[in-house]
Amino acid sequence: MFVIIGAGLAGAKAAAALREEGYRGGVTLIGAEHERPYERPPLSKGYLQGSSELEKVYVHPEGWYRDNDVDLRLGTAATAIDRPSREVVLGTGERVAYEKLLIATGATPRPLPFEGADLDGVHYLRTVADSQALKAAFAHGGNVVVIGGGWIGLETAAAARKAGCDVTVVEPEPTPLHRTLGAEMGEVFAGVHRRNGVDLRLGAKVARLAGDGHVREVVLESGEAIAADEVIGGIGAAPNVELARDAGLEIGSGILVDAALRSSDPDIHAAGDVAEAFNPLLNRRIRVEHWANALNQGPVAAKAMLGQDVVYDRVPYFYTDQFEIGMEFSGDIAGADDLVIRGSDLEFIAFWLREGRVIAGMNVNVWDVVGDIQKLIRNGETVDPKRLADPETPLAG
Ligand SMILES: Cc1cc2nc3c(=O)[nH]c(=O)nc-3n(C[C@H](O)[C@H](O)[C@H](O)COP(=O)(O)OP(=O)(O)OC[C@H]3O[C@@H](n4cnc5c(N)ncnc54)[C@H](O)[C@@H]3O)c2cc1C
Repeated sequence: MFVIIGAGLAGAKAAAALREEGYRGGVTLIGAEHERPYERPPLSKGYLQGSSELEKVYVHPEGWYRDNDVDLRLGTAATAIDRPSREVVLGTGERVAYEKLLIATGATPRPLPFEGADLDGVHYLRTVADSQALKAAFAHGGNVVVIGGGWIGLETAAAARKAGCDVTVVEPEPTPLHRTLGAEMGEVFAGVHRRNGVDLRLGAKVARLAGDGHVREVVLESGEAIAADEVIGGIGAAPNVELARDAGLEIGSGILVDAALRSSDPDIHAAGDVAEAFNPLLNRRIRVEHWANALNQGPVAAKAMLGQDVVYDRVPYFYTDQFEIGMEFSGDIAGADDLVIRGSDLEFIAFWLREGRVIAGMNVNVWDVVGDIQKLIRNGETVDPKRLADPETPLAG
């Protein structure tokens, strides 16, 4: 009997991999939400903007779980892991025995740490219900203030603008996406948002939210008050590690797992947003809150649970769509000492180098190059920055 806690992307992909690998035993997939497993990226993009349907977000068709003999328990939270008796305790009090357990509990938006954060009209974006609530709120127009200029904040700002709202983004760093992309590339995103009418307040800190039951203003530390009919908290997410911590598993910035996604208990694995995994390619542990990581770690964890000799060593990958930007990002800029741009305006590839080697690449409105960019990162060979910047020089080769 294999049990998976967390019916999100990583959990659903792990369940599928167990069956694809020929496992015939029981598979139970436990999910706190009432929706069957779904993908979150459309919640801040096409689904939020009304251009794609709900049916498109699901990982598997409705009948898949029955057809594949996966016992999907929705609306059911796991409340404890009893390691000595190898059982998962559910909110109902029921106990589910496991031989191998996968924790794929994802992450939860960090609550805004300001006075007034409990007012009506203050939103977060993680679930289908959150996305529906935002869509309804944006339909009224008015003033939307997004707190946090990260991926979720910027995508939500773009959706609100497209819905016709007046949008302000408040971000304490000097550019949006400052820590992920650095100043120069952060400025590219800032420019696109400004051109599309988003009021960016950079280097600005929120002091409190004010209202009369419903939020009316976001007050900055400078004393300025920004009118707000709706506020979105986009200040990051915290991994759902409580079950693992209470069960005595080793925790770092997520559940600590090795390259086979095995935790400090060899019968318990972790995958997706909740896992801080050793990546042999990067030679360090990393917790990644991205779609591709959940998509691909789920099956690797499943194979490892089946005793296969597998490791997860993919290049971290991420994509976003905002206004006229379609972008894919590979790698990690930590330690970068040089930035090389190939192309111009809003059609380019940015490469981050460390000691002459490519460690990350971002293609903006340039397509079918991710394979080549990831090959450069994987090869780890020193490159000639001039040739790298020259669009006439092939990337591969
Ligand atoms: C709005 C939004 C947009 C995004 N856009 C992008 C994008 O454009 N590109 C990209 O690369 N990534 C994007 N991401 C990130 C990506 O969606 C996540 O990395 C991915 O969902 C992680 O999958 P997961 O399976 O690890 O966790 P989740 O999808 O969070 O699934 C975990 C599930 O476990 C459940 N759970 C938690 N605790 C328990 C418990 N005790 N018992 C039972 N169930 C439990 C949760 O309710 C949840 O349903 C986006 C995320 C959001 C929220």
